[in-house]
Amino acid sequence: MKQLIGHKLVNEALSYIKEDDDRTLSELLELCEIPAPSHHEQERAQYVKAKFDEIGLEDVRIDDVGNVFGKMSGTGDGPTIMLAAHTDIVFPFGTELKVRREGNIYYCPGINDDTRSVVELFTIARAMIASGLKPKGNIVFCANVCEEGLGDLKGVKYIFNKPNNIDAFVSIDNPVPGGIVYTATGSLRYEIVFRGCGGHSFADFGIPNPIHAMGRAINTISQFEVPLMPKTTFNVGIIEGGTSINTIPERCSMLVDIRSDSSEALEMLKCSLNDAVQEAVDGENSRWDSNQSVSAEIILKGNRPAGVQPADSPIVKTAWDAAELVGLVPELRDESSTDSNIPISLGIPAITVGRGGREGGVHTAGEWFEPVEAYLAPQKTLLLILGLAGLESCLEPIIVKRGENRG
Ligand SMILES: [Zn+2]
Repeated sequence: MKQLIGHKLVNEALSYIKEDDDRTLSELLELCEIPAPSHHEQERAQYVKAKFDEIGLEDVRIDDVGNVFGKMSGTGDGPTIMLAAHTDIVFPFGTELKVRREGNIYYCPGINDDTRSVVELFTIARAMIASGLKPKGNIVFCANVCEEGLGDLKGVKYIFNKPNNIDAFVSIDNPVPGGIVYTATGSLRYEIVFRGCGGHSFADFGIPNPIHAMGRAINTISQFEVPLMPKTTFNVGIIEGGTSINTIPERCSMLVDIRSDSSEALEMLKCSLNDAVQEAVDGENSRWDSNQSVSAEIILKGNRPAGVQPADSPIVKTAWDAAELVGLVPELRDESSTDSNIPISLGIPAITVGRGGREGGVHTAGEWFEPVEAYLAPQKTLLLILGLAGLESCLEPIIVKRGENRG
C-alpha cells in the first residue's frame, strides 16, 4: 500500500479530492434537502444518475429497485470492486429537510447518514478520472436503496441475489472517518399484532384485552437475559393501538428488533420472543372467565443475516493501511448491521468504512455536519479501492478475482 503513496497519479488524485472539498460540500447541501425515505429514493437516484453521467462514468443506469450504478473499467484482468453508499434516510416524508447553518456547522436530518457518503462517491470518481488513474480491476460505484430500518437492505440484497461478478464490496457508512466495520451483526425485526373482539370498558368488562396481553409480553421481553459476547440485544421500539380511554381495544401492535453477531444466539432469542408472546396471550386469556379471547400474529419485517470475517483478512488490513496513509486513526468497529452484511454472509470480502468530517445527532432531527478535514475520508477510500483493485505498474490487486456470474 505504501507504493501507492509514491505514485504520481495517486498523489494527483489525492490533491484533487482535497481541492474538490468545497464542491463536495455544496453537493452535500443540495442532496440532503431531497427527501428519500426507504423505498422512496427515486428523486435522489435521479440526482445521482445525473452526477454519474456528468462525471463521465461508464454504463450509468438505475436498476429495477432504484440502485444507481456507474462503472470505471479496469486495465487488466483484475477483480471487480463495488463501492457503495445508501441513498435512503430514516426520515419520513414531511420531515423538514432544510439546511440550517450555524458557524461552520450544518444542520439537516440525514446530512451524514448516508448523504455525505454518497457525495464522497462523486469526489472519488472525479479524482480518478481527472488524474487519469486506471485501476487494474473494475470499480463499480453504487448508490443503493433501502439500507435503513425496514428497508431491510433491499437494495444490496437485490444486487447479490442476481448473478454478478463482484469480488469485494466496500460501503461508506460509518460516523468515524477511520472506522472499519468488518463483522455482520444479524438482526430480526418483527411487527407483533394483538387482536381481540373489543368492547365498552364498563359494559363489556371481563373480556381479554389485547393491550393488556401486549403489556404482559413486553414485561417478559424486558427481562430477557442475553450474552455480552457475542453481543446480543433486544428492543421494543414502537407500540401503538387502542381506540379510546373507555374502549377495550380491538387491536394493538409493537415493533421489536433483536440483534446478535452470532446466528445461534439470534435463533435462541427468536425462540424466547415467540414464547413470550404465546405466554402473554395464554395468560391474558386464562385471566378472564370469558368466551372471548385475544390472539397474536408475529410478522417478520426484517431479516439481516449475521456473518463472520476475520479481523486480519486482507480487506480489513487494506482499509487499516489506507486510513493510516492519509493520517486518519484506523478503528475496528463492531457495532453495526450494514449493507456489508449481505456479501459477508455470502463469503464475499466486504467492509463498511467511515465518511469524512465531524458529525452528530445521527437519526435525529438535530443531525449536524462540520466539514473539518472532510476530504481525508474520501482520500482513504480512494487508496482502499486502489489497493483492492490494484494499479497498473504499481500494485497487484489485493482481492483475488473469482469466477464470473456467481448467483
Ligand atoms: Zn447509514
